[in-house]
Amino acid sequence: MSYAFVKRATTIALPAALLVATWAALHKVQFLSAPERELAFYAPWLALSGGLMLSLAFNRGRVFLALVMVGFFYLFARCYPLSDQYLPRTIYLFDSILIPVNLLLLCFMRERGVFTQPGRMRLGFLGLQAVVVFWVVRYPQDYSSIPELISLPLSNARLLQGFAIPQLGLLLFLVCGGLISIRVLKRRNPIDVALLGTLVSLAIVLNRIGTDFVPPLFVAAAVLLLTISVLQDSHSMAFTDDLTGLPSRRALNEQVMGLPRRYVVAMLDVDHFKRFNDTYGHDVGDQVLKMVGSRIAAVKGGGKPFRYGGEEFTVIFPRKDLKEVTSHLEELRQTIGSYQLWIRGSDRPKDAEAGKAKRGAAGGGKSVSVTISIGVAASSDNMRTPAEVIKAADKALYRAKQRGRNQIAT
Ligand code: GH3
Ligand code: MG
Ligand code: MG
Repeated sequence: MSYAFVKRATTIALPAALLVATWAALHKVQFLSAPERELAFYAPWLALSGGLMLSLAFNRGRVFLALVMVGFFYLFARCYPLSDQYLPRTIYLFDSILIPVNLLLLCFMRERGVFTQPGRMRLGFLGLQAVVVFWVVRYPQDYSSIPELISLPLSNARLLQGFAIPQLGLLLFLVCGGLISIRVLKRRNPIDVALLGTLVSLAIVLNRIGTDFVPPLFVAAAVLLLTISVLQDSHSMAFTDDLTGLPSRRALNEQVMGLPRRYVVAMLDVDHFKRFNDTYGHDVGDQVLKMVGSRIAAVKGGGKPFRYGGEEFTVIFPRKDLKEVTSHLEELRQTIGSYQLWIRGSDRPKDAEAGKAKRGAAGGGKSVSVTISIGVAASSDNMRTPAEVIKAADKALYRAKQRGRNQIAT
């Protein structure tokens, strides 16, 4: 089992385990003494203060907003326990539709920090929702049709009768949960996973809002999930290169710790990149590095790509020998060499279609290309440590450069 596998698995396994543990704890709370039980109701506040501080310190706006939302949800649930009265009933109905929708929005938002301009606007948007709910609650004579509308049944299937959450809320929880799940599978971002965990926890809370310990325990679990995800996200960021999205040098250092006896290391370096930068500018250089990175990420033959630094990349092929990888590297070299990157002129059209048309037309834009040189080395009986193999690959790379670049050397 590789380290990378363990790391990837914990992104999903940890939140799942926490929810299962919360479920198990639920059945133990009744055995606690009265003062201990009282403590359970404070657990969410304790977790919230830690989570809010951590998300502030790490400037994770999406988690911060999710925590603010969960905090106010719990506060109102504690202040106005659900009953048939208009006020708690209306708050409950709004909760059941606003929570899934907001979690979905948070999942699909880009990270923009906490107290930045976008961060403040998002906070304002949450506040606006609170004002709307307040208004509806404050003037029942004018707005009582809104909660009625929310609680309108959509179907009279027997299965749906067992839920406390109104059917519209159930539908939203399902749809939003589904969309967040797709995002989780695609992106594997720990914060998305935590948002999904929060959605599940709060669905459980809303459905069993009247029970003693479900709300405090599952709200605390949701808050913990969100808090932990801040740490996981920052950790994985430290192992990812920002420009290319490839694993970074630090990730390479971890990868080599778990290498099998037999493996191949390839060092790749863009040819005359300094000249390229000087001619076209650093921004175009960055664009090229992104392109090169994305081709290297798609390398075949079980190669694991890394950005070693600057315009240098590393691909590790565990359990492979030179013969097995050369054709894949050759294919990679050719793909990169034949790729034409269109440089965006200052008069570049804004929308993609016009851009395409312009690129097709004579004289519009300009294309550039780069080549790469590759040095390859395999582990052997007298060259076992990764440091030695990487050094040998580096020397081979130097030879490839000496021989005229745009080629592979072993
Ligand atoms: P060679 O064919 O011998 O490799 O020549 P080279 O110019 O590529 O070699 P050298 O290592 O001297 O130059 C690397 C250049 O890559 C230096 C720097 O201008 C550029 N570079 C390094 N990192 C980045 C980056 O993140 N973005 C951009 N745009 N350029 C970078
Ligand atoms: Mg270099
Ligand atoms: Mg170079």
